[in-house]
Amino acid sequence: MQIAEEAVQGAANAMQSAKRVLVVSHIRPDGDAIGSLLGLGLALEAAGKQVQMVSEDGVPAGCRRLEGAGRVLHRPEGEFDLVCVVDCSDLERTGSTLLGRGQPDLNIDHHVTNLLFARHNLVEAGAVATAEIIFDLLPAFQLSLSTPVASALLTGLITDTIGFRTSNMTPRAMRLAATLMEAGADLPQLYLDALAHRSYAAVRLWGAGLSRVEQQDGLVWTVLTLQDRQATRYPGRDDADLINILGAVDGAEIAIIFLEQPDGRVKVSWRARPGLDVSQLAVRFGGGGHPAAAGAEIKGSLSDVEKMILEQTRPLLEINGGNRVQQ
Ligand code: 5GP
Ligand code: MN
Repeated sequence: MQIAEEAVQGAANAMQSAKRVLVVSHIRPDGDAIGSLLGLGLALEAAGKQVQMVSEDGVPAGCRRLEGAGRVLHRPEGEFDLVCVVDCSDLERTGSTLLGRGQPDLNIDHHVTNLLFARHNLVEAGAVATAEIIFDLLPAFQLSLSTPVASALLTGLITDTIGFRTSNMTPRAMRLAATLMEAGADLPQLYLDALAHRSYAAVRLWGAGLSRVEQQDGLVWTVLTLQDRQATRYPGRDDADLINILGAVDGAEIAIIFLEQPDGRVKVSWRARPGLDVSQLAVRFGGGGHPAAAGAEIKGSLSDVEKMILEQTRPLLEINGGNRVQQ
C-alpha cells in the first residue's frame, strides 16, 4: 500500500476511539460503492462498533444478496463520533447525506481526482477498487476478514474491474481475489449477481440507448432520456451499465453516455481506451474519476450538453492520434 503510514495511523487512532460510526458512499452506487460500504461497515460491527451504513440511492439489484444490504439506510439518523466516506472523489458524490455534518473524518478512495476533503485521507489511485484499500486497512484498524466482509469486498473488485478486464488490473488484485475466495467469498455467484444478471427493465433501457447509438472519428455515444426510463420502467437513476457496452464497440476510443436527469442536469459518463485520460476532462466539468472511466453532472438540456461535450472531447483524440472508426 502506498498510503503514508502516518495517515493510516491517524485514521486507525480516530477509528479506535469512536463508538458510533457512519459509513457513506456515493449516489448512483455501483458494486464498489456498496462493496466498500458493507465491507467496512460489517467489519466495524463485528469489532463492536455501532455502525450506520448509508447510500442515498439505496442498493442496486446486483448487490442486494450481500449480507447487510437490507440494513443500508437512505439517510443517516442521529449523531456519530466518526464519519467515513468511501469510493467518493469529492463530497458532492455523497449527495445530500452529509449536509450540515461538517468535515468528514475519513476519506477512503482510489480516484486519481480525489480532492482530499477529509481529516484523514486514505487515497491510493493504484488500487483497482476502493474495496482493495479497505482490505489493506483491516489489520491497521484491527478488523477481521469474515466471509460476509470478503464477499462485499470481492463484489467491489469484480465490478470496478468489469470482471478483471480493465486496463488498470494488477497481479496484486488477482491475488486479492484469491484471498477473498479463501475467506469464503463465492466468486461465480457474486460475478453472476453483480455483473451478468440483468433485469428485463435494464435490457429494455439498453435497447432504447442502443437504438440511437452514433459513432464518428473514434467516438461512440448515445443518450438516455427521462422518457426512456419511464417507458422501460427502469427504477435506477443510472445507465444500467450501458456505457460498458459502448466502450466495447470496435474502434471506440472514447465512449460517452448522456443521461438526462430530472433536475435540468445531464449525467455524462466517459470510457476511454488505454493511453487516453478522460478524468481531467470530467474534472473540468465538476466531476472526476479514473483515466479510463470518468463522469460528471452538468447543468443544461440534453442536446446542449451532448453538443458541448462532444466538442470538448474530440481534441483528446486529435492529441493522441490512433485508429479511427471508419464511417
Ligand atoms: P460512471 O461513469 O460509471 O458513473 O463512473 C465512472 C467513474 O467516474 C467512477 O469511478 C465514478 O466514481 C466517477 N464519477 C462518475 N460521475 C462522477 C461525478 O459526477 N463526480 C465525480 N467526482 N466522479 C464521478
Ligand atoms: Mn470504485
